[in-house]
Amino acid sequence: MPATPLPIVNPATGAVVVRLVADGPREVALHYLAARRAQPAWGATPIRKRIATIEKFREQVIARGDTLAQTLTQEVGKPIRQSRNELKGLVARLDFFIAESARTLREERVFSDPAQKLDERITHEPLGVIANISAWNYPYFVGSNVFVPALVAGNAVLYKPSEYATLTGRHIADMLHAAGVPEDVFVPVIGGGASGAALLSQPIDGVFFTGSYATGAKVAAAAGKRMIKVQLELGGKDPVYVCDDVDVRNAAAGLADGAFYNTGQSCCSVERIYVHEAIHDAFVDAFVAEVKQYRVGDPMDEATYIGPLARAAQLDVLRAQVADAKRKGAKVLLGGAAIKRKGNWFAPTVLCDVDHSMSVMRDESFGPIIGIQSVADDNAAIAQMNDTDYGLTAAVYTRESSRARRILARLQAGSVYWNCCDRVSPRLPWSGVKHSGIGLTLGTMGIETFTRPKAWHLRSA
Ligand code: NDP
Repeated sequence: MPATPLPIVNPATGAVVVRLVADGPREVALHYLAARRAQPAWGATPIRKRIATIEKFREQVIARGDTLAQTLTQEVGKPIRQSRNELKGLVARLDFFIAESARTLREERVFSDPAQKLDERITHEPLGVIANISAWNYPYFVGSNVFVPALVAGNAVLYKPSEYATLTGRHIADMLHAAGVPEDVFVPVIGGGASGAALLSQPIDGVFFTGSYATGAKVAAAAGKRMIKVQLELGGKDPVYVCDDVDVRNAAAGLADGAFYNTGQSCCSVERIYVHEAIHDAFVDAFVAEVKQYRVGDPMDEATYIGPLARAAQLDVLRAQVADAKRKGAKVLLGGAAIKRKGNWFAPTVLCDVDHSMSVMRDESFGPIIGIQSVADDNAAIAQMNDTDYGLTAAVYTRESSRARRILARLQAGSVYWNCCDRVSPRLPWSGVKHSGIGLTLGTMGIETFTRPKAWHLRSA
């Protein structure tokens, strides 16, 4: 079978950075066999030694930070300051896993009765060989949420970075290998969707996927009959409700950042805003003024806040959402079209007079576009926020904590925020409901999830 070319394209210019070759089914099968052979010895390595490799990986991330940030910006188009922020955030996650893994995975004695001479214990066994299929938008975050605790727990990892973040994926593999993780224990699988599908056809013990709902559904179907662990972290259409008691300018500044950071390509980007009718017009004015200040341009430039879209195909999604919204009565307050220059550029776009008949309020946009809708009261806001197939995050802005708690308790989402948004903490579990996924990463539960519990019933003679 001829090799599949894999050109790496700079989304800011459309230029090919380097031409690679994707792993085909034969290479993927060989990667799997190597990982299967290597896993038992890794699983038997004391956990403190496995954690020590992550400590060395952390040192490499810090030492090579500038190069890593530049590569990320070059292949994904993430503005350079935001690439550096991602690497800083990665170090904080590594610190969490380094501090918490040994305690979380230690053997537990849950019952002991000398009269019966009985002891009951739980150990946390590695799953075996797992697939880690990753998205491009935060490759260090979404990758490390899986491969770090998976390796620490004693698994071998077949890691497929998105084809749009291939060079970053190769950096990750180089650093882990230099840190002492054997090459057959952490194995990069290079390529696009076909390489991911080939990986799923191997007799792996679990699949941990981050990406869109559409691909997640295919992954779930491929794994369905195999009785292996399937974990899916998928997209969102994350809503925010702005109550009538807020400081309008502060709320607008925080939410514009939540909607447009990473050029709107975060899984937890703010994608819909509902504003109490009493402050709607003032909020919209402040929001538009805020977005107008954002510098759009060369992502390598320190001053840039909004860069290109990583994937050219997303331009069509955004164009279609704007056309559909306009046809149904929305007003375009800012932007509304692609920017004519080489690469994948879309102008920051703010729409008002939107409603739920419009795709922009229902389907994931994953770009620099936001719809702002007026609502009459808290109940109307909650109904609109829950009127979605997704459930990743949801937020409320208000001065009153009891009002916030009341509203957040009724929202169907994996994470809820009061006076903040677009935020992930290594200490809290990260999960979605409905089409936003199944399973979780992060928190101590996000360490345990890479193991299966073994129950020990021990009766002495
Ligand atoms: P995709 O679903 O397009 O791709 C995700 C991964 O799956 C990529 O590595 C992709 O390869 C691979 N893939 C594609 N087809 C198949 C297949 N048939 N079998 C196996 N693997 C396959 O998502 P994106 O990379 O575009 O990421 C954006 C999406 O991810 C958004 O919906 C976003 O919300 C979501 N996301 C969710 C997060 C969460 O924590 N819930 C975090 C980050 C993103 P390739 O790219 O090479 O084609």
